Formats: sequence, structure tokens, C-alpha cells
Amino acid sequence: AISEGEILGYLYSKGIKPDGVQTLDKDMVKMVCNEYEVEVIDADPVKVEEMAKKKEILDEDDLDKLQDRPPVLTIMGHVDHGKTTLLDAIRKSKVAASEAGGITQGIGAYKVLVPIDGKSQPCVFLDTPGHEAFGAMRARGARVTDIVIIVVAADDGIRPQTNEAIVHAKAAGVPIVIAINKIDKDGANPERVMQELSSIGLMPEDWGGDIPMVQISALKGQNIDDLLETVMLVAELQELKANPDRNAKGTVIEAGLHKSKGPVATFIVQNGTLKRGDVVVCGEAFGKMRALFDDSGNRVDEAGPSIPVQVIGLNNVPIAGDEFEVVASLDVARQKAVACAELLRNERMSAKAGDGKVTLSSLA
Ligand code: GDP
Ligand code: MG
Repeated sequence: AISEGEILGYLYSKGIKPDGVQTLDKDMVKMVCNEYEVEVIDADPVKVEEMAKKKEILDEDDLDKLQDRPPVLTIMGHVDHGKTTLLDAIRKSKVAASEAGGITQGIGAYKVLVPIDGKSQPCVFLDTPGHEAFGAMRARGARVTDIVIIVVAADDGIRPQTNEAIVHAKAAGVPIVIAINKIDKDGANPERVMQELSSIGLMPEDWGGDIPMVQISALKGQNIDDLLETVMLVAELQELKANPDRNAKGTVIEAGLHKSKGPVATFIVQNGTLKRGDVVVCGEAFGKMRALFDDSGNRVDEAGPSIPVQVIGLNNVPIAGDEFEVVASLDVARQKAVACAELLRNERMSAKAGDGKVTLSSLA
């Protein structure tokens, strides 16, 4: 709850003049933390994320009831490199719902069945291939994605948003799979893309490194199965687990106000099983789940770990990145929502108190 203006003021007083976005070294961070009596935890960011994930999503009680859960995937990459085309290609050929009459409405995420060793393995794609969405969720402490697929066009190579995607994935400690796209095009040079990637530390598996890279044409539907299989192998190594046999917890990935349904939200369940009739609190919003819809718009009674589900019954529109949890009663939910609203109000007030001082954005 300390404004950036105040911290900048302190840095200035020490003769440090940050220019826009700048990284502070460890000693400077320790100095600032000491000034504001904040405990310094000197740790690997990946480990911290993992700890946070284990702490918040899985409880001690879950540990002996863990079962496999499907991986949750996000596609990122530079504009025009083929994210939407890839999503469409996957959706067209693989969406589980196609048997039930196709997609009737987008809910921001969908389940895909990938045949592995003769068995159909589910995975879930987040339908918001936006860096902003990913960044915003991460800023709110949400870690929903298990694997990031980064699309790089074989005729264009690494571009600014490719780098951004790599930074996001690394900061979140999420494994990366590279899809080298547009290999059907004249001028496509997948080798050059692999060279560029290895020069920034992403060494292809084929060259003895640890980053899987699959050459595809999203437009022609070429090697999409290879890509999905590769992703599933990476997922297997992660041993993704949850306890389906408990009250649900998870994250809001999309929300809005529907003309007749009222507030609607798409949740990704991360632990437990969400059931119709459950009482949920997420941020300042709460309510009894009147109806759940799956990714093809069908009513369902419940949704287990990693499964996206659209819900109605909240009294308010939550924010993408908000955590949700099932609680015992509407009273408990109301109390928690009020407490959250108060917290946010205080944060806003202390942010205002920083007005008039130097801020990072005014310096940038
Ligand atoms: P996005 O901005 O990353 O979502 O990129 P799009 O999926 O919208 O693709 C941008 C352009 O590249 C569109 O004109 C696509 O048809 C084209 N495109 C995407 N994938 C391929 C591919 O595999 N081969 C070729 N030749 N064109 C592609
Ligand atoms: Mg697009």
C-alpha cells in the first residue's frame, strides 16, 4: 500500500534517479524494503510462483487426494504471426463440443481432445491470446496457464511481442512450446527462427536444448497434431494435479453484463469441483450459482479441475484475474465481499494520496 511516487521520492533522496522502467538491483531493493520495514525474501521467482500456487490453490488436505487434471494452455506471439488462425485450426478439428452441435457461443476458453496412445486426453485453451490479458492476470497474482505456446512466423522471425511473450512466460515460470508457423509460405525459413531463438537462450530440443519447437502451417492445418502431442508431453512432465473432491477454487478469466442473464463470468476451476447451487465469492461479487454452461453453451451440473465454465448468479461483474471460491453460505460470501470492497477502497485512497508526486508513468 505504498505509492510508487513515495518510493521514487525515497530513491531520489538517495541520489538514485530511475528513468522510466528500470530494474533495481538486489541491494537497492533491500534498501527500499528496509526503509518501509518490508521483509525481503531472496528467492528464485519460479520457486516463489510455485510456492504461491501450492499455497493458494492446493491445501494440505488435498495432498493425499490428488488426481491428474488437464493442462491449461495459452497461445501468444507477435501480431499477424497466426495466433487466431492456429486457435481456429485447433478448434475446427479438435473441439470436444463439435459432437454436441458445435460452438454456439464463445466463453473465453474451450476444451480440446487430443488422441495420445489411442486415448483421448483433454486439454483446455484460453481463448484470449492477448498479452494484456495475460499480463493483467499475472499482475493480479493469478496463474492460470500451465504452458504457453508462442507462435513465430517462419517468414518474419522474432519480433517485439515475441520477446514480450517469452518474458511473460519466463516470469510466470511457465514452460514454453514454440510453434514455428507459416512454413507453407515462400520465404519461410524455420532454421533462421530456431537460430534467432537459440541466440536469446531458447535452444531447440532438436539441437540438444530443452525447448520443443514444432513447424506448422496453421492455415493449411499442417502438423497441428504434432504440436498438440508435443504440448501434451510437456504437460505430462509437469504432473498437473488437483483434488476434485472438495469445494471449488479458481480464477475468473472473463466477465461481463448480459442483457437478460445479468452478470456472467467464465471461471477456470483450479481445484475442487464447482456445482450448480454452490455459493461463490469472487472479489467484490458473490452469489449462488444458478446455472453453469460448458464451452459449447450446454447447461452442466458441475465442473472439475481445469474445466472452464460460464456461470450466472453473481450479484456483480467480477474482474478477470479475480480468484473465486465456494463458501458455506450467502452470509459468509457477503462478509467476504464486503471485506474485499473495503480493502480495494483503502488501496484506491492510498493511491490517491500519492497524487502530485513523481510517478513512474510521469517519468516514462
Ligand atoms: P494473429 O494476429 O497472430 O492472430 O494472426 P492471424 O491468425 O490473424 O494471421 C495473420 C495473417 O497470417 C492472416 O492473413 C492469416 O491468414 C495468415 N496466416 C496465419 N497462419 C498462416 C500460415 O500457416 N500460412 C500462411 N501462408 N498464412 C498464415
Ligand atoms: Mg488474432
